[in-house]
Formats: sequence, C-alpha cells, structure tokens
Amino acid sequence: MDPYRLPRTVVPSHYALRLAPDLEAGTFTGTVAITVDVADEVDQVVLNAAELTIDEAWLENPEGIRRNAAVTFDAESERATLALEEPAAAGAWTVHLAFAGILNDKLHGFYRSTFVDAEGVERVIATTQFEATSARRAFPCWDEPEFKATFGVTLVVPDDLFAVSNAAETGRQPAGDATVAVTFADTMIMSTYLVAFVVGPLEATEVVDAGGTPLRVVHPLGKGHLAQFALEVGAFTLAFFEDYYGIPYPGDKVDLVAVPDFAFGAMENLGCITFREVLLLVDPDAVTQPELQRVVDVIAHELAHMWFGDLVTMKWWNGIWLNEAFATFMEMLATDAFRPAWQRWVDFGLSRSAAFDVDSLASTRPIEFEVVSPADSEGMFDVLTYEKGAAVVRMLEQWLGAESFREGIRGYLDAHRYANTETTDLWDAIEAANPGLPVRKVMDSWIFQGGYPLLSVERTATGVRVSQQRFAFAGGGEDDDVAPATWSVPVLVRAGTDTSGGDAVPVGATAASSERLERTLVEGDAVELDLGPVDWVQANVNGSGFYRVHYDAELRAALAARAQDVLAPVERYGLVDDTWASVLAGRTTTPEFCEFVRGFTAETDLAVWQRLLGALDTLDRLLDGDPRHQFQGFVRGLVRPAADRLGATGTAGEPDRQRELRAALFTALGTTGADAEVQARARTLLTAHDADPSAVDPSLAAAAVGVIPATGDAADRADFLARFRAATTPQDEQRYLRCLPDFNDPGLFADTLAMTLTEVRSQDAPFVLRRALINRERGPDAWAFLREHWDDVGERLPSNSIARLLEGVRWLSDPEVAADVAGFLEAHPVPQGARTIAQHLERLAVNVALRDREASRLAAAFGG
Ligand SMILES: [Zn+2]
Repeated sequence: MDPYRLPRTVVPSHYALRLAPDLEAGTFTGTVAITVDVADEVDQVVLNAAELTIDEAWLENPEGIRRNAAVTFDAESERATLALEEPAAAGAWTVHLAFAGILNDKLHGFYRSTFVDAEGVERVIATTQFEATSARRAFPCWDEPEFKATFGVTLVVPDDLFAVSNAAETGRQPAGDATVAVTFADTMIMSTYLVAFVVGPLEATEVVDAGGTPLRVVHPLGKGHLAQFALEVGAFTLAFFEDYYGIPYPGDKVDLVAVPDFAFGAMENLGCITFREVLLLVDPDAVTQPELQRVVDVIAHELAHMWFGDLVTMKWWNGIWLNEAFATFMEMLATDAFRPAWQRWVDFGLSRSAAFDVDSLASTRPIEFEVVSPADSEGMFDVLTYEKGAAVVRMLEQWLGAESFREGIRGYLDAHRYANTETTDLWDAIEAANPGLPVRKVMDSWIFQGGYPLLSVERTATGVRVSQQRFAFAGGGEDDDVAPATWSVPVLVRAGTDTSGGDAVPVGATAASSERLERTLVEGDAVELDLGPVDWVQANVNGSGFYRVHYDAELRAALAARAQDVLAPVERYGLVDDTWASVLAGRTTTPEFCEFVRGFTAETDLAVWQRLLGALDTLDRLLDGDPRHQFQGFVRGLVRPAADRLGATGTAGEPDRQRELRAALFTALGTTGADAEVQARARTLLTAHDADPSAVDPSLAAAAVGVIPATGDAADRADFLARFRAATTPQDEQRYLRCLPDFNDPGLFADTLAMTLTEVRSQDAPFVLRRALINRERGPDAWAFLREHWDDVGERLPSNSIARLLEGVRWLSDPEVAADVAGFLEAHPVPQGARTIAQHLERLAVNVALRDREASRLAAAFGG
C-alpha cells in the first residue's frame, strides 16, 4: 500500500463534524459522520488520523445495515484502519466515529493560542492550521487535497465565547453546563486542508456588505479600533477578484480572523481566513507604508486563493508552488489596483532580487519537483515558490498582454471549479486563449529546471544579437560550475532612436526619444533581432522578465547616459541589481561598483535607492578601521544630497513612497553612514513622537527607532524592551522587538538571545534570531547561542521556521565562523530543511569568497 496516498476504494462526500474543545484543559472531544461512496466491497476503511484516539467506529448504510469496526493506528503513516466485522457492500455508507484529541502548542492542527487581556488576565483561544496535513490532528478524515467534500461543522463551546468556522452560523442551541452548540452551514465542496474553526474570547466588527458577501474582521477582545482598514481592503479586493476572475466569490461569507500565535503569515481557509495580528490589525495613520502595504498584500493574497486554490485545487502537493506563486502574483495586481501610488510592481523588484539571489546558486531547485510524501512539499514554501514563481507568472502575463492572460485564467477556473488540477492544465488553458503561442513549452522550461539566464545583448549591423547562458555567482562551492542550461525566454525589448520622426512607434510615458517595442522568444543559444538603426536598447522592459541582462560596452554606455530619461524606475532598479550581481559573480570589482553608484546621485526612486543602500551595507561589512571611516564618508556624500533634496520632514499630501525614501535615506545615514547628526536626531524625533505622535511622520519615526540601537546603551535597550512590552499595536510591538538584536553590547545582546527561548512568542522568535545572526558585530555570538541551544530552539519554534531563521548565517563570512557553521549544520540536519540550508551555506560561501576577493581591494580604494 502506498504510505502517502489513501486507497480510492472509499471516497468521502460530506462530513458532519461536531467538536467540543476544553480550552482550559487543552483537550477536545468530537464525533463525525462521514458520507462515503464504497466503490467495491471492502472489509476495511483506511483514513488519516494523528494524535487522536478513536473510541467508537461503525458504518451504517441507508437501509440501516450496520458494520462495527475495530480501530488500529499507524503513527508513521498517520493512518487509522477500521477493520469491519463483516464486509461492506459497494454503495452509499456513513462512517461514524467518536474521538478525542489535544489542543497542542505547536501551531498546527487544533491548537492553543493565548493573549493577555485588558485586565491583565491570560486568555486562551483554540484555533486551527491544517495545511498541509494537520486536519487529521483535529478529526479523522481523508486528508489529501483531491478528496474534496462538503463540511457541516458544529462547535460546542462555553456560552460566553465566540466561535467561527468556514461557513455562516445557522443556529445556537444550549448544550448543558453553560455551553452552546453553534452550527454552521455546509461548506462548498473543498479539500480538508481548508477547514477551519476558531473559538475564544473574540469579537467581530460590524458586517460589511462586500458586493453581496458579508465581510467581518474577527479579533481578540479590545482590538476593534484596529480592524477598519482590513475591512476596507477586504471589500475592495473581493470586488477586484470577482471582476478579474469573472466568477462570484464561492463561499457564503468572509471572516478575516486575527490570531495571536500563528506559524505562517496567514492561511486561506475558505471564508475563515486566519492571520498573524500584525498582518491584519492596523492603524493606517500610525504605521509605515511597507507595514500598511503588507496588510493589503496579505489580505489580497488570501482572498485570491478563495478561487485559485480553494475553488480550483492542486491534485497533490507538487502543485503547491503554483497555488502560492499565482496568489502572490494576484496579490501584486490587487494591491497595485488598491493604491496605484505605491507602484507595487516596482517594489516587487526587491522580491525578484531575493529569488535571483537563491536561484544564482548551484544548490537552487526547479520550481516544481516530485513530491512523494506530503512532508516533501514543506521545502516548497520558500522564495523560489513565492517570489520566483510569481515573477515567472508576471513574465508570462506581460509577454502575452494582461487581457489575453486573464482570458486564460478565466477559462482555467471556469473549467475546473470544485475540482483538482495539474500545473499543465493552467498552461493549456492560457495557451487555448492565446493561439499560436507556445505557453506550455515556455513555462515548462522555467518550471522544471532551476536557475535562470543571463542575456547578453550586442549590437549588430541590423540590430542586436541576444544570447543566453545560465547565471551563477562565483565562489559558491567546491564545484563552481552550475549545470549549463537554456530557457525559452519571453523577451520584451524596447529600442530607441534619439532623432524623432520616421515610422517608430512611441510607447511608454518616458519617451524622450522615439521608441519601439518588440516581443520575441529567445530560444537556444542566441537570436538576432532586426531592430534597424537604434541608439539604445532596453532588453527587459519594465523589468518583468526573470533574467539578467549584460549589454556590450557601447550599449551599456548609451543606456547609462539616458538612464534617468528613458528608463522606468523598475528598469533602473534592474540595472543596479544586475550590476551588483556581477560583483557577486566576480565580473565587476567593488571599486568599479562604487564608481557606478556615483552615477545615481540624482536618483529619486525608492526601490532603486533601497537596492543601492543594501549593496553599500554589504560593502561596509568588508571594511574595518580607517578605510571603513572613509567609506562611511563616501556613503554620507552619496546619500546626504538626496536626503537634503527631500527635506528633513514630510509635507502634507506627500506621496507615501517619498516619505519612505526619506526614511530609507535617514536610516542609511544613521547606520551605514554613521552620521552623528542623524544619530542624534533619531533621539529627538522619538521624543517628539512620544509627545505628539501626529507631529512626526510614522515612517521617519520608525526609521528613528531603527537608528537608535547603533549608538544605544543599556538605558536605551531597557526603554525599547518596555516599549515592546507595553505596545498597543502589533506593528509597534514588532518594531521594538525586532530592533532588540541591534544593540551591540555583548551583555544586552545575550539578554535578547535568551528571550527567544522564554518571553518572545514562538511565532516571533525566528525573526529575532535571524536578525541577531545578521548583526555585524555580534552575529558570531548569535551563532554560538544557536549551537548551544540547538535542541531547545528546535523544540520551541515552529518546525517550518528553523531553516528560515538560519538564513542569517549567510552573513557570518569570517572564514573560521563560516567553517564552523557548515560543519555543525552538516552534523545537525533539519527535517525538510536540507535544501534550504544547503542554499544558505552556498550563499555564505559566496560571501566568504567576496570578502576574500574584494576586502583588500575595497580597503585600498578607501585609503587602506
Ligand atoms: Zn498563499
């Protein structure tokens, strides 16, 4: 018997589920009546169950024939087998089970979450997180995405508690002992991993009518004042998706539920979407633009799943990447529609860079790979699924055109609603809507092989020649050479001539010269493009292609000279990102990069600056002593003029991204630039903000919080700790918590590390530890702490977070520390984290090689 796929002999169609949690005892009891179809006579029924006891089990058919069953468990495969006293004939049956389980503290299955209420009393919530395979911890079920069914849920709870599930509440009956049985309508046909219920001292906002769908935010008591923005976003994005998909919302209501302890960001349970508090509850006037944007992104992402994932679902877990990649793509579209001024697709450049960063390694992986056990798919929840996956979908959308692409999506959802699909079903549907274009062939080349191409563009007599080779960093491992590969690269090229007139077709708003747009497919080693005589070429229009570009010297100079005139911000971003990547690949030196950076003094875009500042911070890590001081002066000289142009404080009506740019430049001056004046001003700003929060722009106030630890002492750290503990919004709480590892004093740093095993919520501790590893001075201390407390960390933190927090080791580029990290992680493998950790180690080796290759060269350039 396949240990991972249940037999198809018995197929469920409806679950009548009744659960009674005891929040104080941390246990629950339940019954379930599962309507099944028996295909051929069976003498046993096999289904999933984990950490449950089953006290009674029998089958009954509509004629009243009963089959009692003896239950055995297999802990390894998380299965229960019901051995029938006599065979059950083919036909309709109902499986009856009575069971009991525990409300665990592992943030999966049916689990406990706690918070302290306004009276200082700890309160308990019972909530669920089932994806991928934890529904079986709450009730026995056919726990595979392909076994879709309807679910009728009843929750028996203390009558002073709130209860919510996937569908609308239909009734409440007293159930004795001050409890009430809350019943919910049957759900649509859906997979078990999307079932949810939440019980506790919660309350809901008023119901908003979102185009006919009742929408609420459900939250712990006393936080209603932070829920209005989520309602606004929820209503907007529901309408956006109904329009985009051309299908009404498939559930009967939407509750957005804030949960104090949550292992992921949010979870797309149909109609009962659960979130980390910081991603749902927000005062839009008191936070930074990225904090607010994150709330919009995540709400949009989860609502996008109601159709793509919930209505149409992958057959098996190998398809989870498409589920997430597509929802991430849709999240960008929706957020971009919600606040066009945020320029979401420009900001997405930073996400694309994060994907490039991993995908430049030999240890990268194909987006889709074979998933045998469900646990194999845990390794799919990473930057290559979300960010590369979304980037590849965006590349296809831009290449086909937004309307043609959407037609394909509509056809796909319409054809497969309430059913399950393979990845190729989507490409085929898009191809059907775009006759003559090889969508499936193109996408297969991106999905089934890792890595990505570097396109080299050279001028020819008639236009340009575009060739491809796989891009790779230098110094990653013993075997520097990644396997060669080619892709079917969808390319949009813009070419311009400086003299106006002729037949050229102008496109884009930045046209200071005549421009033309060409759509092509680069296959094999190279293609020739007949563009005629052109002065400049931009070979990744709007930066939407998942590839890097290298121009020949003449074309590069032509583009650089016109960068501020003819390139969109996201294209300038690409220029910076590609150039920095060539530093890591060993093809550009760090002094050359510093010269390149000087060309951006007039830059006005936030994302471009963020990329530049990130690179400068990495360079700063290569230096010590006087060269470092010289370099800090270089950073100040670069950043100050841009900061001065923006002015010290915001003005009314200023665009959000301009406020963020001021904050980003302030942070860079106060940290990488070690600007004493800015460091002093950070304290003044925080004091002013304390006196009157409306007097200081929230982005600048947040930047001040980030700068203070650079010069912070014990009193500052005590102040930050107190602010973390007393925070009245999730954003403030996270802001002060996450800055604690930035205090460099060894004793204070050790105190922060110790808190990750005690006071800090297990959902937040991974972020603190990762940031501690990144601390330039104290990162090795954080590593020593992790080594020493390896078992405690593994026991306390969510299992999916260990490999992620270890991302911080990439910065431990002291060769001795790096060798220790590699040796220890080899001897202490992390379940389901092997590939991610191999990537961290290879990326660390790239940083070690960068230090080895460039540290003295850069120091020499700055007087060392
Ligand atoms: Zn998702």
